Amino acid sequence: MQIETPAQAPVIDGKAIAAEIRAQVAADVRELSQSGVTPGLAVVLVGDDPASQVYVRNKGRQTLEAGMRSFEHKLAAETSEDELLALVRRLNADHSVHGILVQMPLPKHINPDRVVFELDPAKDVDGLHPINAGRIVLGKPGLVPCTPQGCVILARHVLGEDLSGLDVVVIGRSILVGKPVSLLFQNANCTVTMAHSRTRDLALLCRRADILVAAVGRSELVRGSWIKPGATVIDVGINRIVGRDGRSRLVGDVAFEEARQVARAITPVPGGVGPMTIACLLLNTVQAARMITGAPRPS
Ligand code: NAD
Repeated sequence: MQIETPAQAPVIDGKAIAAEIRAQVAADVRELSQSGVTPGLAVVLVGDDPASQVYVRNKGRQTLEAGMRSFEHKLAAETSEDELLALVRRLNADHSVHGILVQMPLPKHINPDRVVFELDPAKDVDGLHPINAGRIVLGKPGLVPCTPQGCVILARHVLGEDLSGLDVVVIGRSILVGKPVSLLFQNANCTVTMAHSRTRDLALLCRRADILVAAVGRSELVRGSWIKPGATVIDVGINRIVGRDGRSRLVGDVAFEEARQVARAITPVPGGVGPMTIACLLLNTVQAARMITGAPRPS
């Protein structure tokens, strides 16, 4: 007897799509530098959180590879809030810096809101300042948070530019991911439902989604049976678990092997949304450099 292997959804290759974006950014940077502008990104790290150190290193490397200037500011964990605010003000005034990213989380004695509010909104390449958050709400152009922007690019990669009328369910309502990604899909004319920890019958809700975005931080919360056949699944979650073999590995918020039997396409973890975040950071830095200097859009 022949056992039928179920068809499996294609895996959305975030690494490859991010590489294409970085190549485009590098081309834009070359064209911009002909008008005398070299985009510069300043990344500020306070403390010695190992995961943050890896992120900052990768950001610095990819910034340089794209032909931009990279400025890394590594501050001791005991740096005061006033010292950090003073650095942000110096970077706001520095003409060689077009984008500023303060790596989160910050040590407990520093209020992250005060730091984000101090950023020049024109240099806020993480899109967290209230001015930029407000622009998304108003549907106006501005600097858009990197991970949410990456999610929409990945969905368009599968479904095409026009997402009008599609049902989107976003699980998670954080400022960093859930809220902005919901607004971006709304601005793309989707019908969006935002779910969260108090949502009733999450599974039933998810089964409506043409595009399901999971941004929760709970390993494999979303089961295959929650997914509408043919849906596009964007898994933002990054969770470290210890497997049966005793080794630790990263998994998303979606039970990947189950989901790929049902979905049209699905992002893996790692290698899905993650690489898009830095690629979108570079995109935003180029956009900020153009806005600040008034340099023409590359042809
Ligand atoms: P968060 O903790 O700020 O927010 C989690 C959200 O999930 C909350 O809104 C909460 O209401 C909701 N939630 C929690 N439990 C739930 C449940 N059982 N059912 C439904 N909703 C529930 O987290 P965040 O910053 O939005 O990040 C979410 C995940 O995305 C994390 O795993 C994080 O590591 C990952 N992340 C990845 C990237 C990337 O580049 N790939 C970037 C940012 C965050």
